Amino acid sequence: MANLHAYWIHHARKTESTVTGYIFLPKCDCSNCGYTSTMEKSVCPSCGAAMDRTAPKDAMVVEDDDKKEEKKEEEKK
Ligand SMILES: [Zn+2]
Repeated sequence: MANLHAYWIHHARKTESTVTGYIFLPKCDCSNCGYTSTMEKSVCPSCGAAMDRTAPKDAMVVEDDDKKEEKKEEEKK
Protein backbone atom coordinates (compact mmCIF):
# COMPACT_ATOMS: atom_id res chain seq x y z
CA MET A 1 0.00 0.00 0.00
CA ALA A 2 1.29 3.40 -0.93
CA ASN A 3 2.12 5.92 1.72
CA LEU A 4 -0.71 8.33 1.32
CA HIS A 5 -0.81 11.61 3.12
CA ALA A 6 -3.75 13.92 3.16
CA TYR A 7 -5.68 16.36 5.32
CA TRP A 8 -9.24 17.06 6.32
CA ILE A 9 -11.11 19.78 4.52
CA HIS A 10 -13.64 21.18 6.92
CA HIS A 11 -17.16 22.05 6.07
CA ALA A 12 -18.35 25.46 7.12
CA ARG A 13 -21.37 27.59 6.74
CA LYS A 14 -21.61 31.31 6.39
CA THR A 15 -23.06 33.00 9.39
CA GLU A 16 -23.26 36.42 10.86
CA SER A 17 -23.07 35.17 14.43
CA THR A 18 -19.33 34.59 14.55
CA VAL A 19 -16.39 36.92 14.12
CA THR A 20 -14.93 34.91 11.27
CA GLY A 21 -18.21 34.90 9.40
CA TYR A 22 -18.19 31.14 9.28
CA ILE A 23 -19.44 28.43 11.54
CA PHE A 24 -17.62 25.15 11.26
CA LEU A 25 -19.66 22.01 10.88
CA PRO A 26 -18.82 18.60 12.31
CA LYS A 27 -18.02 17.38 8.84
CA CYS A 28 -14.82 17.13 6.88
CA ASP A 29 -13.67 15.70 3.58
CA CYS A 30 -10.55 13.73 2.87
CA SER A 31 -8.36 15.80 0.56
CA ASN A 32 -7.24 12.65 -1.17
CA CYS A 33 -10.42 10.73 -1.93
CA GLY A 34 -13.18 13.13 -0.91
CA TYR A 35 -14.57 10.86 1.78
CA THR A 36 -16.75 12.80 4.18
CA SER A 37 -16.29 12.06 7.86
CA THR A 38 -18.05 13.49 10.87
CA MET A 39 -14.85 13.68 12.83
CA GLU A 40 -11.15 14.13 12.23
CA LYS A 41 -9.59 10.72 12.26
CA SER A 42 -5.88 10.09 12.05
CA VAL A 43 -6.37 7.81 9.08
CA CYS A 44 -8.95 8.14 6.35
CA PRO A 45 -11.36 5.20 6.69
CA SER A 46 -11.94 5.23 2.96
CA CYS A 47 -8.53 5.46 1.27
CA GLY A 48 -6.24 4.81 4.22
CA ALA A 49 -4.30 8.04 3.87
CA ALA A 50 -2.52 9.32 6.94
CA MET A 51 -4.19 12.59 7.76
CA ASP A 52 -1.04 14.29 8.95
CA ARG A 53 -0.94 17.14 6.51
CA THR A 54 -1.94 20.60 7.55
CA ALA A 55 -4.81 21.90 5.55
CA PRO A 56 -4.34 25.23 3.79
CA LYS A 57 -6.21 28.04 5.44
CA ASP A 58 -8.61 28.37 2.57
CA ALA A 59 -9.28 24.66 2.40
CA MET A 60 -12.86 24.40 3.42
CA VAL A 61 -16.17 23.51 1.92
CA VAL A 62 -18.68 26.28 2.31
CA GLU A 63 -22.17 24.92 2.37
CA ASP A 64 -24.89 27.15 1.15
CA ASP A 65 -27.88 26.98 3.37
CA ASP A 66 -29.16 30.36 2.48
CA LYS A 67 -31.42 29.30 -0.29
CA LYS A 68 -34.40 30.24 1.81
CA GLU A 69 -33.21 33.76 1.82
CA GLU A 70 -33.61 34.32 -1.84
CA LYS A 71 -35.21 37.58 -1.25
CA LYS A 72 -36.07 39.00 -4.53
CA GLU A 73 -37.96 41.95 -3.43
CA GLU A 74 -39.13 43.12 -6.74
CA GLU A 75 -41.49 45.89 -6.15
CA LYS A 76 -44.41 45.59 -8.43
CA LYS A 77 -45.92 48.86 -9.25
ZN1 LIG B 1 -9.48 9.37 1.87
